[in-house]
Amino acid sequence: MQGPPVVDELQPPNRTLMGPGPSDVHPRVLGAMNKPLLGHLDTAFLEVMDEVQELLRYVFQTSNEFTIPVSGTGSAAMESVITSLVSPGDVVLIAENGYFGDRMAEMAARAGGEVSRISAPWGEPLDTGSAERALKQVDPDLFGFVHMETSTGVLQPEVATLTELAHEAGALTIIDTVASLGGVEFRTDDWDVDVVYSGAQKCLSCPPGVSPVTLSDTARDRLLDRTDTPRSWYLDLALLAEYWGDERTYHHTAPISNVYALRESLRIVAEEGLEQRWERHERVASGLQVGLEALGLDLATDEAHWSPSLTTVHVPDGVDPDTVISRLLAEYGIEIAGGLGNLAGEIFRIGCMGYSARSANVLHLISALGQLLADEGAKVDVDAGVAAASGVLSDGSDQTHEPSVPM
Ligand SMILES: *Cc1c(COP(=O)(O)O)cnc(C)c1O
Repeated sequence: MQGPPVVDELQPPNRTLMGPGPSDVHPRVLGAMNKPLLGHLDTAFLEVMDEVQELLRYVFQTSNEFTIPVSGTGSAAMESVITSLVSPGDVVLIAENGYFGDRMAEMAARAGGEVSRISAPWGEPLDTGSAERALKQVDPDLFGFVHMETSTGVLQPEVATLTELAHEAGALTIIDTVASLGGVEFRTDDWDVDVVYSGAQKCLSCPPGVSPVTLSDTARDRLLDRTDTPRSWYLDLALLAEYWGDERTYHHTAPISNVYALRESLRIVAEEGLEQRWERHERVASGLQVGLEALGLDLATDEAHWSPSLTTVHVPDGVDPDTVISRLLAEYGIEIAGGLGNLAGEIFRIGCMGYSARSANVLHLISALGQLLADEGAKVDVDAGVAAASGVLSDGSDQTHEPSVPM
């Protein structure tokens, strides 16, 4: 039999990733993935694991002992938490105001949970009044919601209040921070959150492959006291705790190079400073917002619920969003995304995450998107868009916090 055709060495095109994830990865993080492999029980690797756990506690703003990266993408982190904490018959309340809340509810149902949903319209956060009523009525064991709903760009406010209400109702909180951790303020301990999971390839700007999870001592006790066996073996956090905890017992081979990459991306977060990083996201994304409006576009998310990590904007009348998205990629090398689910065809989703959250990217995007929209027949003012964005972006005195662009 003939062998397969020999393909050329991989040469991915240069892109500027400004969609809802993945974001651009700092060259230092790619470099970390080039380092020689260690065995997953090598003492040198055990040290790397300790360092990663300590850095993760910093970005989660927690002292939780149970803080680990789960193998897999954000959905694996979500499933590890759900499958490990939801026993068949447990009552689970999930806020559903977008695509990812729906995914959480679907996983909880598959884990055998009795799932109730509080729905808010897509594009709006959950309000504390309806959460309070639902918590009283449903009396759940667990209450899950998304901090930044990537399908709509809505940031959930009042996390601490929601957590308090859940605790009053005797429920533990599970919060999805896949698209906010490391880019938007989140304080696990101050807000008294029980379970938080995230992803690597959004505001942490790390290749997808390992995903952070943290459990409060109360949540960890619930996990360890569980008497029935979770349906997933691979994602069973109680088993993973034996590898990431003191025992360091083999469970599955850790994705070594991804752990290296996460370590480097977290080191970059620590060097910049978490609060400075939140400020940078806010400033750079404000430039984006102001620039889009000055182009003549309508933002799709209310200012009060806007998340710096993702800005959503209405597709102007008469323009085909898919054409604009593919031309932006083909002609300018910039990736953005369209709407998901209920908002398909209605909005553009533009990310400003981690290493991608830089002034130069925003200015490039505003001028490229403006020119393309004009070319596609929309009424936009490209010069006004660029001028407004640069007004905001050159105004920041803390430009030095922006990671430097490699040449
Ligand atoms: C991206 C995302 C996920 C899923 O993460 P994957 O890495 O694609 O598995 C979950 N929740 C939110 C809010 C996300 O933005």
